[in-house]
Amino acid sequence: MLDDITRRIHDAERAANRAEGSVTLIAVSKVQPDARVREVLKQGHRIFGENYVQEAQGKWPAFREAYPDTELHMIGPLQTNKAKPAMQLFDAIHTLDRPSLAQRLARLAQEEGRCPDLFVQVNTGAEPQKAGILPADADAFIADARALDLPVVGLMCIPPDAEDPAPHFAMLADIASRNGLHNLSMGMSGDFEIAIAHGATHVRVGSALFGARSY
Ligand SMILES: *Cc1c(COP(=O)(O)O)cnc(C)c1O
Repeated sequence: MLDDITRRIHDAERAANRAEGSVTLIAVSKVQPDARVREVLKQGHRIFGENYVQEAQGKWPAFREAYPDTELHMIGPLQTNKAKPAMQLFDAIHTLDRPSLAQRLARLAQEEGRCPDLFVQVNTGAEPQKAGILPADADAFIADARALDLPVVGLMCIPPDAEDPAPHFAMLADIASRNGLHNLSMGMSGDFEIAIAHGATHVRVGSALFGARSY
């Protein structure tokens, strides 16, 4: 399965005239049985995404002992009271989605002397139930986060379920470009090739790689 996803990513890179290896695969291991995760580690993959701080705290210390070069990305909503363990555990956080979290992360970054790479989550569909900064507020939010010395490296989005994702990916790329941000976290199992065509640098693939999640 890993080989298959890697091949599809390379095909999409080539189709978009992008350099091979310009897209990073984040293997989304939330809720997956340890055996499946270990299988992908054994095959040599080292970049994983998790949605829940508590779940990641439970399973990754042991995996990391066996595979110390593992890189861990937080891709789920981050509660302010989980910000500290998240900062300690993750190499990147894709869900910076509100001013109160930016302020908390800035204070913790000073205390800890380090901060994971941050992606600002943009609610491209302006869906009321979905996290993320509204597109109209994105430029100001990015400027504020930079003023707090936060290492904002890119943007992230989750397009609305029932819509063509392409316009959402294009919007995210546009916001990134006018703000001088080079990383785009977009594309999941069902649409990562479309995301790559629109400039994704990080695709977050779970079920297509590990199989369906059973909650
Ligand atoms: C679960 C999840 C994914 C992976 O979804 P699949 O459809 O299984 O690939 C990607 N991004 C986020 C934010 C997720 O919560």
